[in-house]
Amino acid sequence: MWNRMFEPRVLTDYGPDGFLAISALPGGESLEWCYGCGKCVAVCPVDIVGDYGPRKIHRKVQTGTDLMADSDLWLCTTCGNCLRVCPKQVDMISIMPAVREAALTGPGVPAELQEVFEKTFRYGNAFGQNQRRRAQWSEGAGVPVRILAKDPRPVDVLFYVEDYWSFHPRGQDAARAFARVASALGIDWAILGPEEKTLGDSQRLAGEKGLFEDLIEDVTATLAKYEFARIVTPDPHGFNALVNEYRPRGHVFEALHYTQLLAPLVGQIPWARELDLRVTFHDPCYLGRQNGEYDAPRTLLEAIPGVHLVEMGRCRENAYCCGGGGGGMWLDALTRDHTTERLSERRVREAAQTGADVLVVCCPYEVPRFADAAKSTGHEDLRVCDIIELIDEAMQSGAPGG
Ligand code: SF4
Ligand code: SF4
Repeated sequence: MWNRMFEPRVLTDYGPDGFLAISALPGGESLEWCYGCGKCVAVCPVDIVGDYGPRKIHRKVQTGTDLMADSDLWLCTTCGNCLRVCPKQVDMISIMPAVREAALTGPGVPAELQEVFEKTFRYGNAFGQNQRRRAQWSEGAGVPVRILAKDPRPVDVLFYVEDYWSFHPRGQDAARAFARVASALGIDWAILGPEEKTLGDSQRLAGEKGLFEDLIEDVTATLAKYEFARIVTPDPHGFNALVNEYRPRGHVFEALHYTQLLAPLVGQIPWARELDLRVTFHDPCYLGRQNGEYDAPRTLLEAIPGVHLVEMGRCRENAYCCGGGGGGMWLDALTRDHTTERLSERRVREAAQTGADVLVVCCPYEVPRFADAAKSTGHEDLRVCDIIELIDEAMQSGAPGG
């Protein structure tokens, strides 16, 4: 994986060499279609806190920058907001992964990203955790959690926990909340436990397509062992992989984000109390803009007794990115050197402006990102949690949690 030869290229000012090199990469073709209209400038979350955006990337390549050797290559979060407005369909979600893949053999790959690739390659998860700990989060959930290797009967919902709900402490809180809610609703569900490996979509978008293809082989071999009707995941990145990457390769599963599983069931949730909370919701790029789901999370939030939803100025199709997509989750150190503030900090300021008590999310990357940003921006009183945690709280009798 790491031993391909890198050949630095000398590019000519105002020459076509840079575009020729990028256009030759599958997925890189559209960069040269830019005609400089500037529509992407106002919507690129990196440009809003820095000096970036597709138009600038196009101009830099046009004037001799070798994108493969430039730090700009790693700043795009593949949030997709530029593609939404671009009249020429300049597709950074395809361009950046293609150029990053070509650049992987070079000296400019950020060390923290290399570390994540290595951990994923060796352990099957971005945390470098022993796979035997995959189901450890379920201890303390208060309800039984079925692991298919131990109980391989057919199941309705295969719950694909993914890395951050498996291993991050705040993700584990949310996973336990999901277990309680799913059990209370009588959902027939189970997990893979130690057999689960990451679906690897963020590693793919960060450039490691080879690793992603290997993961597809491993994941589909494991899935073939069991009978299930649907795969449900809390991770919009994993959901995106199942819908837009697995299916075109012939691995067709009914895949849902967990909010899509629960939204039709809101009428059956056994509420126990009102929460009395003003909340604002952050649309995850890979659930909303990339896969068109804006309503399921809001259906759930609006059903929770005592929860009042206030929207941020940038929401739904124009939601601001948390900075975690496309490998950005692991590149905060690099981003810090090229932006005036982290994207997560900008988003927390927008959330605080609504007067909300809680910034609610439904992507496992976002709780740790925003909780950290709330502290660094002086908004410690802004609570950050997943929707599933609020649902779980409103199902418990007793004082609300914090
Ligand atoms: S995909 Fe998002 S972060 Fe990347 S250039 Fe476009 S708007 Fe900016
Ligand atoms: S919106 Fe598209 S065509 Fe217009 S400047 Fe941006 S990348 Fe170029």
